[in-house]
Parts: sequence; C-alpha cells; structure tokens
Amino acid sequence: MVEHCHTKPHYQINDTKNIHLLTERQSATFDVEELTQFMFSGSENPFDINTRRKLIRLAIAHPIHSTHLPFEYLTADEHYSICIRKSLLAIQEANRLNITNQKHRAWFFDIFANYYFAFYIHTSMCLYALENIASEEQKQKFLPLAQSFHIIATYAQTELGHGTDIRRLETEAVFDRTTDSFIINTPKLTSTKFWPGSLGRTVNHVLLMAQLYTPDRDHPCGLQMFLVQIRDFKTHEPLPGVEVGEISTRFAHILGDNGYLRLNNVRIPRTQMLMRLAQVDEQGNFHRGGDARLLYGTMVHERIRLINSFLIALTQAITIAIRYSAIRFQGQNPNGNETKILDYPLQQEKLIPCLSTTYAFLITFIKLDTYFNQLKMNEKNYLKQLPELHALSAGFKGYASSVTERLAQICRISCGGHGFLVASGLVGIRNAVDGGCSAEGDNVVLLQQTARYLLKVMQQVEENNTKNIGSSVAYLQMPLWSSTTCMNLNDYCRLFESRSQLLIKEIYTKMLESSSSSSPYDIFINNSIQLVHIAKAHMETFFIRAFYEQVGRAPQHSTIALALEQLFYVFTIHTLCNQSTDFIRLKLLSADQIYELETHTLPDMYARLRPNLVALVDAFDLHDFELNSCLGRYDGQVYEALMERARLNPSNRHRVHPVWLSVKQGTLSKL
Ligand SMILES: Cc1cc2nc3c(=O)[nH]c(=O)nc-3n(C[C@H](O)[C@H](O)[C@H](O)COP(=O)(O)OP(=O)(O)OC[C@H]3O[C@@H](n4cnc5c(N)ncnc54)[C@H](O)[C@@H]3O)c2cc1C
Repeated sequence: MVEHCHTKPHYQINDTKNIHLLTERQSATFDVEELTQFMFSGSENPFDINTRRKLIRLAIAHPIHSTHLPFEYLTADEHYSICIRKSLLAIQEANRLNITNQKHRAWFFDIFANYYFAFYIHTSMCLYALENIASEEQKQKFLPLAQSFHIIATYAQTELGHGTDIRRLETEAVFDRTTDSFIINTPKLTSTKFWPGSLGRTVNHVLLMAQLYTPDRDHPCGLQMFLVQIRDFKTHEPLPGVEVGEISTRFAHILGDNGYLRLNNVRIPRTQMLMRLAQVDEQGNFHRGGDARLLYGTMVHERIRLINSFLIALTQAITIAIRYSAIRFQGQNPNGNETKILDYPLQQEKLIPCLSTTYAFLITFIKLDTYFNQLKMNEKNYLKQLPELHALSAGFKGYASSVTERLAQICRISCGGHGFLVASGLVGIRNAVDGGCSAEGDNVVLLQQTARYLLKVMQQVEENNTKNIGSSVAYLQMPLWSSTTCMNLNDYCRLFESRSQLLIKEIYTKMLESSSSSSPYDIFINNSIQLVHIAKAHMETFFIRAFYEQVGRAPQHSTIALALEQLFYVFTIHTLCNQSTDFIRLKLLSADQIYELETHTLPDMYARLRPNLVALVDAFDLHDFELNSCLGRYDGQVYEALMERARLNPSNRHRVHPVWLSVKQGTLSKL
C-alpha cells in the first residue's frame, strides 16, 4: 500500500515562528533534507524515512487524537483505557488502509497509540516466535489467529525468583499421557511469572517458558515454550486455575501493563508446546530436532527491536534539548545582551557528545539491522553468522541502553527546570529508557555474553583457525596500529581496534594462565569486570568503524560529509578521553596527546559544529506529534506551549480548591 518514493519533510523552514530558531536554521551549512535522505532512506533502511513519513501522516490524521487531555493529566485507568482504544483502532485503521508489511504495521501501531501500543510484545516478539519456533502444523493453526489478534499473547519468562538465570526457572509443564496434555503449575511463590508486559490486564494467551517433564515428573527435558490460554475469548475473564494481575507501580512503563501469573493445574493440549526445535509424541517421548541456534535468532530479533526503541527515544531527547537550547536565553554578556544557552561551551559540552553518540548509534544500528535482514534470506549463512550477530546485538543492547539512559538524563538536566516538567517530553523518555537497562536481559549480563564470544574468537586467532571469523572481529588478526599520531579518520579506527585487540589478548592470556590452578567458573567470575570492559571496548570499536564507513559513503567534499566527519571526531575523541587509561597504559597514546585532544581538538570541533546543531537534529525529521514536547516543538513556540499546558492542568478547574472552601467556611473537620 505504502510505496517507496521521495516524500516531503514534516516541516519547512518557514514553519519556524521563533526568530532565534529561524536564524539557526538559516545559518546551517548543509541541506537538512539531503542529510535525512542520505541517512534514513531506502526500503532496507530500518528507518525508511519516506514510508515512515506517510505512515505518520496517516496515523495522526485520525480524530481520536484530539479527544483526550495530555496523558499526564489522566489517571492510570483513563490512560490505560485510551491506550487500549487507540491500539484496537490502530489495528482497524491499518487494515482499512491496507498496511500489510509487518514493519510498516508496527510503526503505524506505535505512532497511532502514542508509543503505547498495548499489544507490542504480541506483534514484535510473539508473532516472531510463532513463525520461528512453532512447527509447520502449529503455524498453520495459530499464526492466522495471532495475526488477526484473536489470540493476543505476551512472552512470559521472568519469575519472581529468577530473571537472568533462566535455567533455574521453576514453572513446570508435566506431560500426562492419559489425556495427551501438559499440566502446568507455578508450584512455588518464587515460580510466579512476574514482569511480562501486557500480562496484567490485556492478553488472552502467554508464550510460557516452563521446565518440561515427560513422560512423568522424573524426567526433566529442560526449558520449552508453551502457548497457554489464560483468559476467556468471550468474557476476558481469567480461566480456571489462572491467577493473573498487574504488578505494583513501576518507575515508568505504567502502560506496559506488566503482570504476574500463577497457574494451578492448568491443562493444555500436547500440541501447544512449540515443536519446531523439540517434540513430545503421544507416548511422551522427547526428541530434539531442528537447529537450536534458531532460538538465538529470536533473541537477536528482540534485542534489535529494543535497541531501535532506545534510539528513537535518544533522537527525541537530543532534538528537544538542542531546539530548546536554541531559544532559551540566560545570563548577560558584556554588551548587555542575553546569551543563548546553546552558545555556552558548557552547554555544548553536554549536548554535542550526546548528538554525536546518537548519530554513532543510529549508523551502527542501520548497519546491524540491514546485515541481520540480509542474512535471514539465506538460512545456512544465517545460522553460521548467528553467534557473531548474537554477540553484537547483546553488546549493543548492553552498551547502548546504559549510555542512552545517561544521555537522556543529561538532556533532561540541560533543559533546566522546564526539563523536569512532564510536558518537556524528557521525563517520560528518561524513565522509559531506564527500564531498558534491565528488560530483555541485564546489561552487564549481556556484555558478558559478548565477552565470551570475543574470548572464543581470540582462541581461534591464537590457534590460527580464522577461516570463518566474522567481519566485526577481523581486526583481532590484524597488525597493531604502529603510528604515534592520529592523522585521519582511519587512524582513529585502527587506534580503537588495536586497543580492543590488546585488551582481549591480555585477558585471554591471563585466563589461560590460570586455567591450571582454578576452575573455569572461578576464572570467569574473577575476571568478569575486565570481561565487561573488553566487551564495551569491542562495541566502541564497532561503532567507530561503522561511523567511519558511513562518512566514506557521503558525497565526497560535501557539506554533509563534513558535518558527519565532525560528529565522528567528537564521538571518537570523547570516547577516547573517557577511556584514556587504556590508551596510555597500552602505550597507544601519551597523556599529553590525550590532553591535547581533550582541551583543543574537542572544543574546536564543538565550535565547528555549532552552526549546524539545530539542522543536525532536524535531520531526524521527528513530527511534533511523536516528540510530544512543549520544549522541542519545531516552531519554537515554547513559552506559549508551556502556558497552554499549565492552564490545561485539571487542578486549575476550581478557582478555589474545595479544601480551601472548607477552611475558609470553617467546615473542615479537625483531624
Ligand atoms: C520494563 C521491563 C519490562 C520487562 N518485560 C518482560 C517481559 O515482557 N517478559 C519477561 O519474561 N520479563 C520481562 N522483564 C523482566 C526482565 O527480563 C528481567 O528483569 C531481566 O532479565 C533481569 O533479570 P532480573 O530482574 O532477575 O535481574 P537479576 O538477574 O536479579 O539482576 C540483579 C542484579 O544482579 C546482577 N547479576 C545477575 N546475574 C549476574 C551475573 N551472572 N553476573 C554478574 N552480575 C549479575 C545484575 O547485573 C543486576 O545488577 C521486564 C523487565 C522490565 C524492567
């Protein structure tokens, strides 16, 4: 339905009403639309800007969006009701508009429901799991029901007692030969499923991770995934044996509807264990079949989805902070004029590294996502490259979610008091990305998985067995960078690659040396802090290489190539200065060189980038509807928007609050 062709940006420069923002836009050295198209266009690009623009226009045109107050003024229940109404309507509208492509549908749903699409785990994770882990027969039976939202599911893995260590999950599915069914129980308090999104009030099914026992309780067969109905199709009532509800209030994600689930002798037919990778027959015989590596594919898919959501949040946060800093004046210069806060080097020091990191993450994400999608076309290649993809997606999620959380906080603070208003948009972003540090696997746990992969590759390198090593780790077998100064972009890539190589080799050798005196477990635990460090170093190397390649793709000597190159330098040098101990200790750079980079090169880059800061965030082409921020709106009418939002506060509906009427009338009862 939505064909790919060049579309107009959401806003034109003359939509700017604030004169200071207009001046910023007029003084940019490159064409914003050219950068937008260069970065985000193409049907294989995960942001496919031209299609996305059309979908946004379609989604926001619906009258439902003007029927409610801003979300901050709604009670949790009102908010939930609107979120469900909008989510159901989004599905109806997507069908009416014949939006069939899964990626386009997911965008449409997200935007239509103001990023609170109630069935997001169903559409992203559960449909994917059914497609990849169900047998052909099961797919035929369940996929159409799930695709038409008759079955709405969530992914129920985490329990009260265990999250990271899934081998210890305690929910049980015991095969009962006489009825050809599984009997499912959460036998202990700690085996209660706890946290799954959309579980509390929304879904009618779960994809349940449970320990399988067959043919009876004495034969554990490990964790398997089961499709379990928990609510009645007609009444939405919990089914017999099911206790389900919402967990207590979260830091954010109020609408994530995270729930708990207790199951007491719930029976499901044998055919509802997902059977592509393992099967149970009528006699209760358990077989493993299919390639278990496909499970990694599901994890990679889900992590990529999560990284995508952080990146949208990060582009929103930096857009708000930079646009606001361009209209906000504070302090007086010697000429008696007020200073724009974006002109303070200290404000630039906060925001320009955030902006460069946003670009670095986006560029790397586009590379990773495109690679993942291309690989999926060829199952043999895909399975071969899955360990590398798994390590990269775990490392990216582990690294980027904690950095995003920190940067969102910097953006929040950089907007001063107004940044603390929910109406700034930054509070919601900051709190939502915080949850991403734990959801889908704790950050340090994921970074340790990346480190394990790096150790394996290092072993291959040491054993000269490098025929199949992935491109992201190819630097491990390259000669070290031998220059003493960084002259160009590639020098910086080589510098970071050499640092990672030396760090990985160092820890690998140390662990090998202790292998005669300690157990593998002890060696891993005792070195885990350095292992997380090498995983981060590897990811930094990967980001920098991807950024370098993208600068190389920009039209030579163009103004966009120059702006991207400056962002590359900021990202790279800023990262380098944060990790200066490594570069000095490994004798790759001297302390004096780093001092020079930090005190001269970086501020020089800030000054060069300064005229383009607004244009660089405009290039993300976010619609005001998506930003939902009084501070970040395109036209720059910030103060007008803040006053309008304040006046809408339902607390202002009484000229005198009833409690004061009681006080003044002397009718307030004494406590
Ligand atoms: C917003 C949100 C949404 C979620 N949605 C879902 C969902 O839809 N479905 C679902 O099943 N679950 C969901 N979860 C649960 C989530 O997957 C788990 O919280 C996550 O996997 C971390 O596990 P945990 O909470 O048990 O933390 P723990 O593993 O208990 O971690 C606590 C601390 O111990 C440290 N730690 C743990 N193990 C190690 C180790 N091996 N080495 C070093 N340090 C370690 C961690 O770094 C962390 O600091 C969600 C969670 C959140 C916050």
